[in-house]
Amino acid sequence: MQITKDRVVAFHYRLSEPGVGPIEESHGGEPVVYLHGHGGLIAGLEKAMEGHGAGDTFAVTVSPEEGYGPRDENAQQRIPKSHVIGGKGAIFRPGMAVRVNTPSGQRTAVVVKVGLKMLDVDTNHPLAGRTLHFDIEVVSVREAHEEEIAHGHAHGVGGHAH
Ligand code: ZN
Repeated sequence: MQITKDRVVAFHYRLSEPGVGPIEESHGGEPVVYLHGHGGLIAGLEKAMEGHGAGDTFAVTVSPEEGYGPRDENAQQRIPKSHVIGGKGAIFRPGMAVRVNTPSGQRTAVVVKVGLKMLDVDTNHPLAGRTLHFDIEVVSVREAHEEEIAHGHAHGVGGHAH
């Protein structure tokens, strides 16, 4: 069965940055599960999945424009440590990912600098502005249930839990 719109795909990936090195991979854990054709993956990767079937392996290089977008150099801000979700009593270090409350809701930020009461954080996605290389192994492809199509995401193991 091929990957087309409204099918649920499970896959393993190995992610690296060309010329820099490995970033992360799913091998050794659960595969990623998503509903194809609903924007569940970054655009460049979802496009490359189209037409592949279970057992296929392939590689794709994704530009920032089709990945996590360009870096916004104005996305650094100084926030009180008390604005970090679940951060009470935590020891903060540069490079650490934290969840913060912002006027536009909760988001992930990376700690840049640690002060006594304040933190400088960067709210860019950690992969923003980076060219990404994926080695993909398609594990399985199945038809989506009506409910999954209505919700726009996969259910079950590795999918969305309600
Ligand atoms: Zn759902």
